[in-house]
Amino acid sequence: MNIHEYQARELLAKAGIPVPPGIVAATAAEARRAMERLGVPKVVVKAQVHAGGRGKAGGVKLAESPAQAEQLAGQILGMTIKALTVTRVLVVPATDIASEAYVGVVVDRASRAPVVMVSPAGGIDIEEVAARTPEKIFRQTVDTRYGLLPHQAMALAFRLYDDVAKVRQAADILQKLYRAFVDAGASLAEINPLVATPAGAVVALDAKVVVDDNELERRPDIAALRDVAVENPAEVEARGASLTYIKLDGNVGCCVNGAGLAMATMDLVKYYGGEPANFLDIGGSSNPDKVVTALKIITADPKVKAILFNIFGGITRCDDVANGIVTATRKFAVDRPIIIRLTGTNEREAVRILEGVGMRALTDMDAAVEQAVQVAKGGAAA
Ligand code: GDP
Ligand code: MN
Repeated sequence: MNIHEYQARELLAKAGIPVPPGIVAATAAEARRAMERLGVPKVVVKAQVHAGGRGKAGGVKLAESPAQAEQLAGQILGMTIKALTVTRVLVVPATDIASEAYVGVVVDRASRAPVVMVSPAGGIDIEEVAARTPEKIFRQTVDTRYGLLPHQAMALAFRLYDDVAKVRQAADILQKLYRAFVDAGASLAEINPLVATPAGAVVALDAKVVVDDNELERRPDIAALRDVAVENPAEVEARGASLTYIKLDGNVGCCVNGAGLAMATMDLVKYYGGEPANFLDIGGSSNPDKVVTALKIITADPKVKAILFNIFGGITRCDDVANGIVTATRKFAVDRPIIIRLTGTNEREAVRILEGVGMRALTDMDAAVEQAVQVAKGGAAA
């Protein structure tokens, strides 16, 4: 789950990291009042969207008067950054910058542990630094039994600064960032830029936290940070129905039971020259209602040209799925061809149910996927 910068800043501030306090504004007038309340000569007005690179996109601007804050907020609000519309801005006192660094904690698959990364080349995309000057990124794998140890934090901080006073501040921030990362159940927590001011203070000017969805259940306070308004409506609806749905760009709608089979199905769609329109896992025990919701979500995507069911009946009963398909086609017009592959538990009943309404089911996964790809391309009818 993504959260907004202003929310991530609060998490970091709570962990004791120095973060300039800001005020969120939803209108230009509110941005003006925010600057008046802050009572500072300069503020930065920042778009609050779930995307990085806002600075480059014109979503981070310096204002030197409340009137200018209002004017700039007016420009930023309503702007789209990476297809996301800006509905709120954060107004923060501007900080003077002597240098910009990157610090972050991320779950690293290869080392099966969190890794703390730092780079003196901060401010810009860390992906760009990694691609062009990988020698400027320094890493420390963390043993989760002990956390980020003081000497490890110091060694990393020395990669950022020569001045010991700054090194100590940065080391302290790194340890607190690691704590915040663990406490939030995050898969990523980063500060970019972490800046040193001309006066020698080290402060966080931007914050990004991505929370592992599996950690949300035991962290209601973090789960409450979810901003449904900015999420894909189909994904929100799917989550409400306990379906795992991720929208993609292709035209073959996929409805599969089990995450592994869903991945394999997408691979096979690609193998046969098609593009999946989504990832969708209807879960282990799928009652017909889930299938109805799944079909509603898939057909709501105008790009979908064919719908592929791939069901391996284990705990999932094929007849449940078949009933779901039939119910859905009665409830609303499914105006796209459906290609069904099912095998396993109650397969025969399922075939009977489907044939009762003039539908066919295949048992071979390759054949079904290939057919779905062809149909989506406007080829053979289902
Ligand atoms: P991002 O582009 O989405 O990562 O947004 P950031 O919050 O990182 O801002 C982008 C850039 O704007 C930073 O790298 C800074 O160079 C600049 N910036 C952000 N806040 C301030 C500030 O308080 N003072 C100054 N001088 N520059 C800032
Ligand atoms: Mn940034």
